[in-house]
Amino acid sequence: MTVPVIGIARTLNYYAYYPFWQGFFDSLNLKTIVSSPTTKEILDQGVKDALAEACLPIKLFFGHIATLKSKVDYLFIPRIVNLNRKTVYCPKFLGLPDMIKYSYENLPPVIDLRVDNRSLKDSLLIASLKLASFFGFSKLRGFKAYREGIRQQNFYENLLQKGYLPVNEVNVNSPKLFSVKSSFKIALLGYPYLVYDNYVNLKILEFLNKNNVQVLTAEQVPWPIRNKYAPFTNKKRLFWTFSDRVLSSFQYFLKNVPDLKGIIHLTAFGCGPDFIVDRIMEIDAGEQQIPYLTLTIDEHTGEAGLVTRVEAFLDMIKRKSR
Ligand code: SF4
Repeated sequence: MTVPVIGIARTLNYYAYYPFWQGFFDSLNLKTIVSSPTTKEILDQGVKDALAEACLPIKLFFGHIATLKSKVDYLFIPRIVNLNRKTVYCPKFLGLPDMIKYSYENLPPVIDLRVDNRSLKDSLLIASLKLASFFGFSKLRGFKAYREGIRQQNFYENLLQKGYLPVNEVNVNSPKLFSVKSSFKIALLGYPYLVYDNYVNLKILEFLNKNNVQVLTAEQVPWPIRNKYAPFTNKKRLFWTFSDRVLSSFQYFLKNVPDLKGIIHLTAFGCGPDFIVDRIMEIDAGEQQIPYLTLTIDEHTGEAGLVTRVEAFLDMIKRKSR
């Protein structure tokens, strides 16, 4: 019997939940292919295929799907609505399976199971059992695969909290630390598919490391702590999961890292939620006199211009603290 091949795009939720799905599919001996790391060609293809008004990450998702679709038997694009029972994913995430289905012809079948813990308790488990059954496995096998996914996801999140880079290396025994330890601490905040994609972030992580900057990211703050810091005004929190993650970790860093030297917000052109997130962070950082820089990335942003701005930002902080 031939084993079906399932395609996963190396962007968006990949940086947040890939270890869960990898553990799940591996446990069922199903073969997965992840699209290759982002390149100019992938981004250009996405820009060509997606709606012009889409934000950069959605265009990029199209580009990754375009490279995968002829190599796999199924495209895996789950519709993750809610996992923590408090926030939902950006509406553009929720529309992804439909956007892809109606944009390309001759696609392999799209697996777009819905996960929404608000309307159905244990929604992820139920979706996993359905998926296992779709591929002909028993409930028991599905449950074991789910448990393996959870185990790998917890392992991964633990590594992120310690400062490891979320690439394939996190699943081996000797992952590399991505951030140097230093007294010069900068919070690099943004959605994981911007911060950790080395093409999209224009190598800013590497640049900060080379300049002996310790980088703090939202993923280093565990969920129970972030959850405590999420309400930003009048006990309200943001609706969108990744925006909530950025803002709550920002609040945490402001209040708990006394030697925080500055904050860089990496944002994508065309992102609706970030208009709100960026403004709130800019005002709060200003009140605390913490230097704040917004870097907006689009398909035309060049590495040289971005590096110049970050260099100037670091110089300004150093001069200020002399
Ligand atoms: S949160 Fe912003 S960048 Fe991310 S998919 Fe939604 S609109 Fe695009």
